Amino acid sequence: MAEIIIIGAGITGLTTALTLQRAGYQTKIITKDYGINSASGVSAALWKPYEANPPERVLKWARHAYGVFQQEVMRPESGVLPIVAHNVLRKSFEKPFWHDVVEDGTLLKQEGSENDNVLGLYRFKTFVSDMSYYLPYLQKQYIDDGGTIELQQIKHIDECFAQGLVVINCTGMGSKLLADDKSMYPIRGVVLIASKTMNENWSDTQDPAYMAYVIPRRDVMIMGGTHDDHDTRPEATQEEIDGIIKRCHALCPQTKNAEILGVKVGFRPMRPEIRLEAETLGGDKYIIHNYGHGGSGPTLSWGCAQEVLELVRAKA
Ligand SMILES: Cc1cc2nc3c(=O)[nH]c(=O)nc-3n(C[C@H](O)[C@H](O)[C@H](O)COP(=O)(O)OP(=O)(O)OC[C@H]3O[C@@H](n4cnc5c(N)ncnc54)[C@H](O)[C@@H]3O)c2cc1C
Repeated sequence: MAEIIIIGAGITGLTTALTLQRAGYQTKIITKDYGINSASGVSAALWKPYEANPPERVLKWARHAYGVFQQEVMRPESGVLPIVAHNVLRKSFEKPFWHDVVEDGTLLKQEGSENDNVLGLYRFKTFVSDMSYYLPYLQKQYIDDGGTIELQQIKHIDECFAQGLVVINCTGMGSKLLADDKSMYPIRGVVLIASKTMNENWSDTQDPAYMAYVIPRRDVMIMGGTHDDHDTRPEATQEEIDGIIKRCHALCPQTKNAEILGVKVGFRPMRPEIRLEAETLGGDKYIIHNYGHGGSGPTLSWGCAQEVLELVRAKA
């Protein structure tokens, strides 16, 4: 019997399992599918807090993860790259609440802007995790460290207590059913995979009704995006695709030469606040929930994993 069962193999499950396995616990992941086929596989995976609460805990988790990405970037096979990011500021000309985490954060007045609503830019250094490399990389690290992965859909948490002493729930949107969590809802997002025509990130994402971002990866770039609360449509419409292209062209004229190579739709697993807490079910069944990361799963991943480790240690 494994000491700890982790349910889910998205970015949250993989980083949690790896953190626990490296700390000396014998762990097993049970997941209905590999992470690449989950929200994590669609993620643009730029380190930047977005649609995640509460701010003080987000800050702590994001700070820890930023530090881990500073290390990951040293390993080219991880698919994690350093990147210069530019946030378009429309609401107020001020630094974001996470400004003291990042390197070289600078407020810039927007010179000669054609758009009256743009107040300026916040430029900073951050990281992008190319999920087509990073998820398989983490999975390999986990297996090499002695972890095991079993493909199975869990219908009731009790199925896991038959196989492990402690259970960690990292099922993202799956928690709506598995944890009977009615506060969970999807924020649907469409992104385009495009040929790479630039090397820096630009994001105009302060208005959900007008989202544009370009995130270069190792070989391609992501052009986004959309933000639709409670929307479960699995396919992108031509109107959505055309809208993304138009907004990205306006944000970054360099994208006008990009070839569109693919379209992806994903669902940010949203909750009023991220659920990272321990719960004791029916006597001594100890479960730690780690889900509801909204638009920030990769950004917070390693920080949340560290807090899970602290909760596991506190239980022992
Ligand atoms: C378009 C888009 C762009 C994004 N861009 C960014 C970004 O730039 N930066 C950022 O930080 N975040 C971004 N995000 C958000 C990010 O993708 C999510 O926060 C993150 O992927 C959540 O990861 P997770 O592991 O918690 O959930 P998921 O990736 O959904 O993984 C859940 C796992 O649980 C498994 N599972 C579910 N139910 C069960 C069950 N009953 N039994 C067994 N297994 C189960 C699934 O198979 C899966 O392996 C973006 C999201 C979208 C959609």
